[in-house]
Amino acid sequence: MKSIVCQQPGELKFLESDKPQAKAGEVLLKIRAIGVCGTDIHAFGGSQPFFTYPRILGHELSGEIEAVGEGVDLPVGKSAYVIPYLECGECVACKKGKTNCCTNIEVIGVHRDGGMCEYLCLPASHVVVTEGVPFDQLAVVECLAIGAHAVRRGDITKDDTVMVLGAGPIGLGAAQFAKVAGAKTILADVNEDRLSFAERELDIDATVDCKGDVSAQLDALTNGDFPTVIIDCTGNKGAMQSSFGWLAHGGTIVFVSIIKADITFNDPEFHKRETTLKGSRNATKQDFEHVVACLANGSVRSTAMVTHKTDFSEFPTIFPEWIKPQTGVVKAVIELG
Ligand SMILES: [Zn+2]
Ligand SMILES: [Zn+2]
Repeated sequence: MKSIVCQQPGELKFLESDKPQAKAGEVLLKIRAIGVCGTDIHAFGGSQPFFTYPRILGHELSGEIEAVGEGVDLPVGKSAYVIPYLECGECVACKKGKTNCCTNIEVIGVHRDGGMCEYLCLPASHVVVTEGVPFDQLAVVECLAIGAHAVRRGDITKDDTVMVLGAGPIGLGAAQFAKVAGAKTILADVNEDRLSFAERELDIDATVDCKGDVSAQLDALTNGDFPTVIIDCTGNKGAMQSSFGWLAHGGTIVFVSIIKADITFNDPEFHKRETTLKGSRNATKQDFEHVVACLANGSVRSTAMVTHKTDFSEFPTIFPEWIKPQTGVVKAVIELG
């Protein structure tokens, strides 16, 4: 079988190997679609500090169950998606059901070889059989689950006004799940193309241009109340720090972004609002199931985010092009026949 390996930053190449065999407790998945994520871009670009090479990338995966190992009761031939976070099950976080922030977490395609290949063996517990959602949509379930988890962290209800900061794939997902939760949803970014894309494709209520006066725009949009929940998906220190001053009194900030820096805030501003600040990392099985239910009933549209597609055989050639901002890639999916 063929794999695409990231040999070193900037170099993707095909590798030929034997088709793997499912051991006890494992599923052999015939990969049918792979979502391309910011993590893959950073790994390819060499800006992921904890990445080791060579590495087979790809953690947003869907496929067909080709075979099962001993003790696995999953139907061969059925469609499935992958939960790529392998948790230890024993640490302090796992014991509380927070497997998404396990102290020993291993992510497929990050800490170990991933799914840019024709066949992959996976623990059966992390392969979820699903009907009625096509492979290309199942491949972006992980990306959407991160947004869904952030919305759950924000305890969002129909009474909230939510501002999602950052209109990349994670932010576009978070905005859609805030809508599903019934909230008035505002999307903010510096990129007008992304905002008009979101206005066109997704049912959000308003947009904020972060190149302008954000406070004034929020003041007008909320009658001076400001957003009751802010979900940051920017990866931008300035935006993350500014969010403390854009929040309603009694509100909650959720940081999905991770940046390699310290974040500071003005304590009187924080205190007077009785601000709640939360991190949001990865997602749990509950979030994945919510995403798939929303895709199946049409309340969330992954198709609106997938702007580019390629065949597996073309990916190493086309990927360096897609990284250029002028290509306008929001989300790309690799398909295998
Ligand atoms: Zn991802
Ligand atoms: Zn754990």
